[in-house]
Amino acid sequence: MSDIAHFIDGRRVPGRSGRYGDIFNPATGAVVAQVPLASRDKVREAVESARHAQPAWAAVNPQRRARVLLKFLELVGREHESLAKLLSSEHGKTIADARGDIQRGLEVVEFSAGAPYLLKGAYTDAAGPGIDLYSMRQPLGVAAGVTPFNFPAMIPMWMFAPAIACGDAFILKPSEHDPGVPLRLAELMMEAGLPAGVLNVVNGDREAVDALLDDADVKAIAFVGSSQIAEYVYARACASGKRAQCFGAAKNHMVVMPDADMDHAVDALIGAGYGSAGERCMAISVAVPVGKEAAQALLARLVPRVESLKIGLPADASADFGPLVTRTHLDRVKNYVALGVEEGAKLLVDGRGFRMQGYEDGFFMGGCLFDDVTPQMRIYREEIFGPVLSVLRARDYEEALALVSAHEYGNGAAIFTRDGGAARDFATRAQAGMIGVNVPIPTPLAYYTFGGWKRSAFGDLNQHGEDAFRFYTKTKTVTSRWPGGVREGASFVMPTMS
Ligand code: NAD
Repeated sequence: MSDIAHFIDGRRVPGRSGRYGDIFNPATGAVVAQVPLASRDKVREAVESARHAQPAWAAVNPQRRARVLLKFLELVGREHESLAKLLSSEHGKTIADARGDIQRGLEVVEFSAGAPYLLKGAYTDAAGPGIDLYSMRQPLGVAAGVTPFNFPAMIPMWMFAPAIACGDAFILKPSEHDPGVPLRLAELMMEAGLPAGVLNVVNGDREAVDALLDDADVKAIAFVGSSQIAEYVYARACASGKRAQCFGAAKNHMVVMPDADMDHAVDALIGAGYGSAGERCMAISVAVPVGKEAAQALLARLVPRVESLKIGLPADASADFGPLVTRTHLDRVKNYVALGVEEGAKLLVDGRGFRMQGYEDGFFMGGCLFDDVTPQMRIYREEIFGPVLSVLRARDYEEALALVSAHEYGNGAAIFTRDGGAARDFATRAQAGMIGVNVPIPTPLAYYTFGGWKRSAFGDLNQHGEDAFRFYTKTKTVTSRWPGGVREGASFVMPTMS
């Protein structure tokens, strides 16, 4: 059994708290490694190391900092396949999906290598008599990120790449369920030329997160995970004066208008609802057909597709999705399915009984499909985060739009239609942060920003894009006048441009 360590000051260091978490192979159910859960002392050691390393790193010019990211891209490119295997062996997602997880992270690394341009300030010549005015972006110091299990490569890279490009040092606290890839990414950053201490990884649970939240040397916290914890992290970080961006849960709706191309809509729903076993914050978990005919046409196509989903081993290239991440999570998802039945929803496809031959202890389940779901049901109000799709029928477009907007989560929402006017209206009025028009998973590319609305996000700056460069820097504005310019004498009034 392999042991996972922390990564502090450029090397792997063992945990000494005596507390460990299990890492499973989700396909077999076996414990394959143990992850040390950091004590407050271990977190302090990581913060100290980052604090020492950061000033020298900030003094490296942005182009040289960007070159480390460019080298990192090359190194990850070389290891892409082995990283994808490691990722899927701890998470359970298929290897093809794991490759995508890494790739979407690398795209933000590429974007962050534009730091020399993105960090440029503004300059106004002769803003007043002999006065020049300019602004600059300066690093915060030490920033930290807490990441979820479902994208163990992408989300860490979304955080550490812009932070490091900005001249910050970064402490990553990855999910305790799949820390293997984040650790390897930190090693590859060192190999790419990053000085020791600029990127540290501490593994752990709430104790480690609280230690980061309470440490005065940590100036900013980025968090991605469930909403309850996002809200807790946000409140505690803000209370101690830290900058915080905390992204939470989702319940993404896909509205299917009567004029939609139904075959296209069903292809989209199957992939977005069941890909990665539904363990994506941008997964579609609610389909909203508008009108009776759309509902009938959609369900007639959807039911056989859900029944014939191919659940397989992560390494099986023909599998649609693999096992869930842990038995605890599998049980939670199955309990939601039981709850849906109790609440009166119609379970059209029940995948709870699925067993993978030869892997009976693995965390597998098949796809589930509910019809006649209502807005009052908990299976609608709460995030299930598994291969479970709910169909909630709407009488007309306004009712469908109102559902999207009234839900407490507002990560993504999509509309499938041939009507440009309806699509435009939906994009304008739907209360969600990311909208798809005939696109089920509207995850913006690296040079736009990513973030939900309502209880899907706490804080005011999004992930990646230009927002990341705002989040990981503070702005300084300099007003300067040199001796030899115009002499105006002493003034006791507020300077204005009048
Ligand atoms: P989680 O909230 O259980 O864990 C996220 C992180 O918080 C982990 O690193 C974990 O160790 C830490 N943590 C757990 N309990 C804590 C506590 N009591 N105090 C402080 N820290 C704690 O989430 P998860 O199960 O790993 O991930 C799935 C969730 O993440 C889903 O809700 C999903 O929607 C969400 N998610 C959101 C986005 C987004 O951008 N909005 C992206 C991916 C995942």
